[in-house]
Amino acid sequence: MLYFKNRGIFTVNSYSILFYYHIMKRDSEIFNYIQQENQRQLYGIELIASENFVSDQVMEAMGSILTNKYAEGLPGKRYYGGCQVVDEIETLAIERLKELFGATWANVQPHSGAQANTAVFSAFLNPGDKILGFDLSHGGHLSHGSPVNISGKWFDANFYGVEKETGRIDFNKVANQILDLKPKLVISGASAYSRDWDYKTLRKACDEVGAMLLADISHPSGLIAKGLLNDPIQDCHIVTSTTHKTLRGPRGGIIMMGNDFENPFGLTTLKGKTKLMSQVLDGAVFPGTQGGPLEHVIASKAVAFGEALSDDYFTYIKQVKLNASVMADEMIKKGYQIISGGTDNHSMLIDLRSKNLTGKVAEAVLGQAHITTNKNMVPFDDKSPFVTSGIRFGTAAITSRGIDESGMVEIVNLVDEALMAAEDDNKLNAIGEKVKSMMAGKPLFATPVTA
Ligand SMILES: *Cc1c(COP(=O)(O)O)cnc(C)c1O
Repeated sequence: MLYFKNRGIFTVNSYSILFYYHIMKRDSEIFNYIQQENQRQLYGIELIASENFVSDQVMEAMGSILTNKYAEGLPGKRYYGGCQVVDEIETLAIERLKELFGATWANVQPHSGAQANTAVFSAFLNPGDKILGFDLSHGGHLSHGSPVNISGKWFDANFYGVEKETGRIDFNKVANQILDLKPKLVISGASAYSRDWDYKTLRKACDEVGAMLLADISHPSGLIAKGLLNDPIQDCHIVTSTTHKTLRGPRGGIIMMGNDFENPFGLTTLKGKTKLMSQVLDGAVFPGTQGGPLEHVIASKAVAFGEALSDDYFTYIKQVKLNASVMADEMIKKGYQIISGGTDNHSMLIDLRSKNLTGKVAEAVLGQAHITTNKNMVPFDDKSPFVTSGIRFGTAAITSRGIDESGMVEIVNLVDEALMAAEDDNKLNAIGEKVKSMMAGKPLFATPVTA
């Protein structure tokens, strides 16, 4: 009955209680660690821009018996028997996703965002082909051509970045780069860029040189789904995303298309057969780069897409954006320098050099006060990726804990207090206690949608 004595720390329903109770009985070592992590998540302020807190219905689908099922292939075209139920689930996930983004085609099987990108590359590129992506050191992602990733190892990776004076991408400059370079694939999207993207300008340049345009919306996908940012579906050939960041679903990836699923790019002759782009992409996910799909995760994705279609989610994601803009304003008031001077989305990148701090120190100091963040390179950084001059904040997770604008002001005060107390253990511990009491009453699970 240990669990029930401690149940105050969980805000889960009876199904989840049973689930945890069983783990406890059968593997107390792992159960103890899950409890420890539960405490860490519950009592901390989570500012990592790529994280979120799912609802318990999203969690339950992920922890369901669907994990037992093999289902290589697609709904109606499987390599295993007994797929009639998972076919319904996967079809529903695809239909909900298409509705959410106004897509005409979708694949919900990628195990992660990086896997979704790898499938796209393997579908349309040959080793040595030229690609153009956003520079990792300016806020890009490893899977967009970094030499340590397959995208940089197998392809001729080229990069664009932000302007030094503005901290923003000059899309006309990128368009000229596309015209000069004539890459086969152009990738838009970032992990640490707080401004919107001009997909139309990129597409126009891509069309002139016959390049394919991919938008990786892993970070801002939730804001895009609800119309709070420019829509890439109409202008890009392919859109990839994670499902676990602002979209607030299980860890995973997705691939979508809007207008281009019958584009000539897809008319690849394979064994004498002409294929649509969508068919080439389906084949690039399985069997191209993955094995069997994770149907428990796909069910959980379907639940999350269903939530994201609701008005409750619209309220949530608007609050995420508002919280980020309040946070940026408050940080600026305290003398912090935000790259590009503010944010259009859920995230921001802060250059700590004006405060004589490194990203590494800031991450550690905030961590001591139970405020979780990640150090991050800033554009034109003079420090190594292990030290960095910056720190990245995002508001998707903290907003799921029920924090509003006034809470954001409080959080910025705590962040600033902690950063200014960098070597004062007592003070940091005291701030940590304040953080704990602030978060203790806030449910760890995103409010389930009662539709
Ligand atoms: C997070 C992210 C990914 C990778 O997602 P994983 O699920 O960790 O593989 C890919 N692209 C961008 C832009 C991201 O921000």
